[in-house]
Amino acid sequence: MKKILCALFLLAFTVPSFAQEVEKTEFTAYYGETTVNNQSSYIPDFRIDGKNAKVRNVILLIGDGMGLAAVNAGMYANGGALTLTNLHTYGYVRTQSDDNFTTDSAASGTAYATGRKTNNGYIGKDPDKNDIPNIPEKLESYGIACGVISTDNLNGATPAAFFAHQESRNATAEIWADLPDARLDFVSAGSMPVFEEQSDSTRTAILERYTLVKNVDAVDNAAAPVLFLPPSVALDERGDYLPRTTRAAIEYLSKQSKKGFFLMVEGARIDKEEHSNNTDGFVREMLDFDKAIEEAIRFAEKDGHTLVIISADHETGGVALRGGDPEKGYIRTAFASTSHTAITVPLFAYGPQSQQFRCFQENSDVSNKIVKILTGK
Ligand SMILES: [Zn+2]
Repeated sequence: MKKILCALFLLAFTVPSFAQEVEKTEFTAYYGETTVNNQSSYIPDFRIDGKNAKVRNVILLIGDGMGLAAVNAGMYANGGALTLTNLHTYGYVRTQSDDNFTTDSAASGTAYATGRKTNNGYIGKDPDKNDIPNIPEKLESYGIACGVISTDNLNGATPAAFFAHQESRNATAEIWADLPDARLDFVSAGSMPVFEEQSDSTRTAILERYTLVKNVDAVDNAAAPVLFLPPSVALDERGDYLPRTTRAAIEYLSKQSKKGFFLMVEGARIDKEEHSNNTDGFVREMLDFDKAIEEAIRFAEKDGHTLVIISADHETGGVALRGGDPEKGYIRTAFASTSHTAITVPLFAYGPQSQQFRCFQENSDVSNKIVKILTGK
């Protein structure tokens, strides 16, 4: 009896102190910091923002893994402002998938693309594995031009959700093989080397359907649909690919249809850098994404009938801000995870009907609102 009591006594003191020790070790391991050079941020006039006016075009920008802390880290590292945080209309988005409290990019990408929640891993399929129509498919009969851009490979979960229907996000060959049936007028994502790895029959089918261009300047005069595959989408190698291609796509899609356009732009690698708890990497990706946001906002301001929505498919890394100095562009972070987390993500909107997004909403709601705003249905 004495022995048992003694063991219990020991246990009572050992377990809590052991738990504390683990917590401390994890925190130290997931610490990060960066100092970056400031880039300019753009402040639009807000004449059209939140107005009950006709929307002809929608630009949806998805920062993969862009939680509120990632936005904050980018903002403070950039001296206290981003084009994103200059906007006036905000909401929140719940990201849970049909079968998991913590979504993956496939389920959340599918929710954004189709307006339906599904299981983690599924692309353009409902939980019963039936194909579900994506926004470009829903808009086809309305004559609205559609485009997709990503800094991920084209078979990545988010871009794939806007054209493919597969049970697994890892079905790379099958996702590429779905591209010829896509209802897209403009496609750009990684990369030329990945395209060249695809089978002869897939490449032939894609080249029969698309005008393949080797650089962004060739987009302008290319017959639709156009496919631009950069040599690389890595941050150090792609230069201004994301903002430059966003601008080219907006110009191209504007000319394709008088009925309007829908464009999805993904900043895919915020997530990838958070998975590896790389503070410098995700902050740089965040700032690059903000340059693409600026292109969309500048166009919307000028056009007057364009709604811009910026949100995320989920948070990644459980990022926390531990300190910083906005004047020096210095930020210090900690990470609670190397995976996705389940917290709601922020949404920012600009343009007519932006007021419809000023609430807590599901990722699938965002998709359904976009279709309703563009088609009335
Ligand atoms: Zn994701």
